[in-house]
Amino acid sequence: MTALTFPLADAARRISQEERDAVLAAPGFGQHFTDFMAHARWSIDGGWHGGELIPFGPISLSPATAVLHYAQEIFEGMKAFRHADGSVWTFRPEKNAERLQRSARRLALPELPTEDFLASVRELVAADEPWVPTAGGEAGEASLYLRPFMFASEEFLGVRAAQQVDYYVIASPAGNYFPRGVQPLVVWITDAFARAGAGGTGAAKCGGNYASSLLGKREAAQNGADEVLFLDSETHTAIDELSGMNVFALTRDGRIETPTLTGSILEGVTRDSLLRLAADRGLEVVETRMVAEDVLARVASGEITEMFACGTAAVITPIGEFRSPQGAWTVGDGGSGELTLALRSELTDIQYGRAEDRYGWLT
Ligand code: PMP
Repeated sequence: MTALTFPLADAARRISQEERDAVLAAPGFGQHFTDFMAHARWSIDGGWHGGELIPFGPISLSPATAVLHYAQEIFEGMKAFRHADGSVWTFRPEKNAERLQRSARRLALPELPTEDFLASVRELVAADEPWVPTAGGEAGEASLYLRPFMFASEEFLGVRAAQQVDYYVIASPAGNYFPRGVQPLVVWITDAFARAGAGGTGAAKCGGNYASSLLGKREAAQNGADEVLFLDSETHTAIDELSGMNVFALTRDGRIETPTLTGSILEGVTRDSLLRLAADRGLEVVETRMVAEDVLARVASGEITEMFACGTAAVITPIGEFRSPQGAWTVGDGGSGELTLALRSELTDIQYGRAEDRYGWLT
């Protein structure tokens, strides 16, 4: 099969320069969308075909489209950053291509070859280049958030893997993910809900995982927290992750700990990058089963000095406090930890081209 090329359809920009400038001055997160989107289709007979860039806009679907009933859907999240010289870069996009392939396997969707994924992202970012914000100022850490996704588009109500699948990439200028910026989070530990079960889809980036996290998020909000922490579904004791971020702890004696990839946790690109940066800083990297009760006891005793959440959207955000039905625990002094912020700067300096790309992470 030949590679997809995603040529730009003969279409004008959807949005005027003035409107775009107004959006870019305060982009928020996930609220505004660019001029174009990438699209390709897969069918059981023809494989992947029809790569194109078309104007961003509504998709027309039959009410009998399989995804609306059985949630056979996966997605990715990544960012394009503008450097001081005006050039635009993505961060480790091949990792997102590979994760989309793993998610596809789990959801019985067709795998999109890495080169086609990279082409879709590259061509969309090129066409929507005026939408990549310049970091700094009001918009804070601005970037262009990219959302590739794939779903069962076959019109069929039988329960089986769809024989027609659509792939899109949409893009949205992004400022800070949390409205309060890099402020320590209050994290609610839920014992009422699990996000993903053993043998389930926790390691895949599929919509269903996020649907099942929403009630936990609501419970968190009702308890004055910003985010929810899910425990493993089997024993309800070990830390899995937040609804959209991996979790880390830093100890007084120079260890960095994060939960092992058990199959119910998403393998974050930020997680992987931080493990590398931390090891190269001389921290002892430990991927382990982190029992929440132990972690909270070590937070209380001061052995754990800092904790943070990480992911593409929120980068690294300190955790200042945990709450659960059993009580409340302040991490460190409840502020932003020094090492957390240092790791954060190290990562964002690479992403924004302020430091040398010594790992070859930028494309
Ligand atoms: N866990 C979940 C459940 C997520 O949705 C995300 C965001 N993709 C992450 C972790 C962090 O992954 P990444 O660093 O690749 O964004």
